[in-house]
Amino acid sequence: MTARILAVDDIATNLRLLEAKLQAEYYEVMLASSGPEALRVALTQLPDVILLDVMMPGMDGFEVCRRLKADARTAHIPVVMVTALTDSAERVRGLEAGADDFLSKPVDTATLFARLRALLRMKQVQDAWRIRAETARQLGMDGAAAPELGGSGARALILDVESGESEALRAALLAEGLIVYVARSADAAFAQLAPGDMDLAILALPADGDEILRLASRLRAQTSTRDLPVILLADTAQKAAVLRAFDLGASDHCFRPLDPNELRARARNQIRRKRYQEKLRADLDRSLEMAMTDSLTGLRNRRYVLRHLQTLLRTDSAAVLLIDIDRFKAINDTHGHQVGDVTLREVAERMRDQLRAVDVLARYGGEEFMAVLGNSQAAEAVVVAERLRAAVAAHPVEVDGVVLRPTISVGVAVGGPHSMIEGLVQAADAALYRAKEEGRDRSHLAEASDFAPRGAA
Ligand code: GH3
Ligand code: MG
Ligand code: MG
Repeated sequence: MTARILAVDDIATNLRLLEAKLQAEYYEVMLASSGPEALRVALTQLPDVILLDVMMPGMDGFEVCRRLKADARTAHIPVVMVTALTDSAERVRGLEAGADDFLSKPVDTATLFARLRALLRMKQVQDAWRIRAETARQLGMDGAAAPELGGSGARALILDVESGESEALRAALLAEGLIVYVARSADAAFAQLAPGDMDLAILALPADGDEILRLASRLRAQTSTRDLPVILLADTAQKAAVLRAFDLGASDHCFRPLDPNELRARARNQIRRKRYQEKLRADLDRSLEMAMTDSLTGLRNRRYVLRHLQTLLRTDSAAVLLIDIDRFKAINDTHGHQVGDVTLREVAERMRDQLRAVDVLARYGGEEFMAVLGNSQAAEAVVVAERLRAAVAAHPVEVDGVVLRPTISVGVAVGGPHSMIEGLVQAADAALYRAKEEGRDRSHLAEASDFAPRGAA
């Protein structure tokens, strides 16, 4: 997987060393030798990962990281802090600034590439969602409000087969406000994680870690757990197993002895990332919903109903009801646009109440609607059309003391499988036209001649 990496260090030799290592693996490398320069390059070049030196004069790595994570344009870029500091309090400080991982100097090449691969894989998934959400926004659909991105209330599962550490792990996660479950075997853990309603898994690596590694890869293979953050707890001597686990899909790790603060900070970062991803997904769902909904009435829109009709006609018969409010212009002209809008909404609601959940009712144009009934014959469709007409005419609409009596006219056309959608809509339109001509507040079924090809009449 090729990617663009920004390396930041105030010492030129360190930069050249990192650059050589990365280029040898075919990564594209950008360099910055100070905090402000790093921020500038990050913003203009949007690298895939940032390797960030902690100790720099002026603005240090913690501050750079905080600023990157505070800016929506760069917050999604994974940051790996490269540090000579081994003090765990410093690591926690970095995690709290939003760092995604740490590498100690001198940088171990195998660890560097294992971490890069894991972070890039995670970013790729996240980018796919981010780009789709962005596209939706550009199409004029705004995103949902930002959700709570903290860790509290999240559900975590601890797997501890040797039952030595689960209490300490549990206490650390409880202090972070998580709801904690403990499993004693890989199979039990898989069974608890498989429904997909956990937010985090902590796997304590026993002396023989094979079973745990298998679990990590099973979790990645299954759709419901594919995006579940997995944190490993391991001995420093188990480095090889940790590197393999990263390639199998582990998200992060802590070395023993357990530092509760470090685990908490790592857990919090993982949960925050998962929630961010879920928010992107929810935004997208909402945008898709908006893309097929008419905002005034809440009904489906024209694009949706035509597509639906097309799909039905591949295999089924379908009835098209084209509905137009009678003398609607007069309502607008007499009482104003706003009263017109309320009337539109009320008429829409009265009609919707008359239809089954499987029928689609859409706003087809200004004061025109279309209902599509699947698997429907003419006699039945005419009954439905009459029912809609009667429901609208049944009682007056009252808007701000103004009493209105809206009525509708309906044109009905029924097509069999493989009917042409244009012909069907045109026939319904012809029937609607006759209903209008004959006095409005009525429904008409299209006749054979209404289906004549365009221009033949
Ligand atoms: P007919 O019985 O022949 O259908 O008469 P009509 O007045 O309903 O038909 P016409 O097509 O002349 O007028 C439709 C009106 O619907 C004109 C337009 O201003 C109004 N309209 C279209 N969309 C909206 C809307 O979103 N809100 C409001 N308030 N009015 C709308
Ligand atoms: Mg009208
Ligand atoms: Mg009209």
